[in-house]
Amino acid sequence: SNGVDRELRAPICCILGHVDAGKTKLLDCIRQSNVQGGEAGGITQQIGATYLPVENIRERTSLKAEATIKVPGLLVIDTPGHQSFSNMRLRGSSLCDIAVVVVDITRGLEKQTIESIDLLKHRNVRFIVALNKVDRLYGWKTCPHAPIAKALKNQSEDVQSEFKWRVTEVVTQLKESGFNAALYYENKKMKEVVNIVPTSAVSAEGIPDLLLLLVRWVPEIMMERLTYVNNMECTVLEVNEDKDFGTTIDVVLINGALHKGDRIVVCTKQGPVTTNIRYLLTPYPMKELKAKGVYKHHEELKAAQGVKIAVRGLRHAIAGTALIVVKPGDDLERAEAAAVQEISNANSLINEDERGESDDGTAIQEISRIKTCKEGVYVQASSLGTLEAIIEHLKTLSLDIPVGGCNLGPVHKQDVMKATAMLKRKEEYAAILAFDVKVMPEASDLAAESGVKIFMAQTLYKLVDSFTDHIKKLKE
Ligand code: GDP
Ligand code: MG
Repeated sequence: SNGVDRELRAPICCILGHVDAGKTKLLDCIRQSNVQGGEAGGITQQIGATYLPVENIRERTSLKAEATIKVPGLLVIDTPGHQSFSNMRLRGSSLCDIAVVVVDITRGLEKQTIESIDLLKHRNVRFIVALNKVDRLYGWKTCPHAPIAKALKNQSEDVQSEFKWRVTEVVTQLKESGFNAALYYENKKMKEVVNIVPTSAVSAEGIPDLLLLLVRWVPEIMMERLTYVNNMECTVLEVNEDKDFGTTIDVVLINGALHKGDRIVVCTKQGPVTTNIRYLLTPYPMKELKAKGVYKHHEELKAAQGVKIAVRGLRHAIAGTALIVVKPGDDLERAEAAAVQEISNANSLINEDERGESDDGTAIQEISRIKTCKEGVYVQASSLGTLEAIIEHLKTLSLDIPVGGCNLGPVHKQDVMKATAMLKRKEEYAAILAFDVKVMPEASDLAAESGVKIFMAQTLYKLVDSFTDHIKKLKE
């Protein structure tokens, strides 16, 4: 180049790994700054993501003032585990630039770790291994927020030797999965050999190292990919009904810019739909929240960001598909043809899964990974993401509760009608788990008459708990 640095966008990162490896805790730890008070070092909660400005990352690391960071920040996708996972399934590699695979150092590679790694390999996504829970090593002396080299120096010989053999074990296991890997500070071939960063999501040792890898090393290996270009790249995460804004689409803006009023083509179950951006929204930072309402309005937003778009009259947009912007002079037919292609790509990926047999929620099944069966409980939620999360949670319980049907939006009489079918088949499942949705008066009347139970709660865990308590009582 002519000495002028290219403008780079924030890398987008998501967190994968086996259950209990510490994905949620690590995400919390990344999001929480050790800057006292105020607006947590400028960190903002975005739609389905968290944005960490580079100033915040600098403050939390021991980086020298003259050391450069070429990206403006880091965008971390908020939902570790299944949701970003299924979105990635749909969108291939484009949703995230880099993945962090969390491995519990005391357990090594586990089933879902290997699945995650296989998926990443398949989608050509680079990853870093966070070798988490180092504080669990016997005799570990806690050094909160310390870079890992400093923390390790502080440990006894016993701890250091346990650390070494556990690292060797994981390196061997990764090798068996087809990857050469090394501790990042010993890694001489960073381009080919997977970096391992020891971390503790509890006392934050190694977190500075992980953050620096994400904002310094990642841009180095994918400069081209992270170069800001005016070509729009934008992925739909989910569609919601908002009481103030009507239909909203949550997207991750991966590249380019969005403007209020932009004409867009959205992929829906019914085919491409052309509409305009009514409002371009992001949440307010915490401290401004109360004063100004929930969302901040924008005329323009530049990548990479999590954004809420309000549109008119649109339902069933397909999660994981691209949002297409039609500029003045662009050919609308071509944009729509591109949308049709997106829809068919998404469908063919979904078709790799076997389908459920029931008719209920078929439309939703086609746009998600949800499977239903003849006998099971009815689940209803405000968004596809939460619906998937509830169903995922039901599956992981020892009771293994099947899902008979599902729907998005308020609970109507028809939903209760569908649930009544279960009264004859399997009475304990004649229930609706309703999360973050209204129950229409006719619906609750019919439920009361017929004996269908409607469950509601503040969190999805409480919702599922109250239902399982109910089942347990019936079984007694
Ligand atoms: P996830 O299922 O991968 O999201 O795992 P969680 O983040 O929910 O963590 C599972 C459990 O491990 C929780 O009890 C955490 O408090 C604990 N945990 C996670 N990370 C660490 C860590 O670095 N050190 C220790 N000691 N415990 C951890
Ligand atoms: Mg978790």
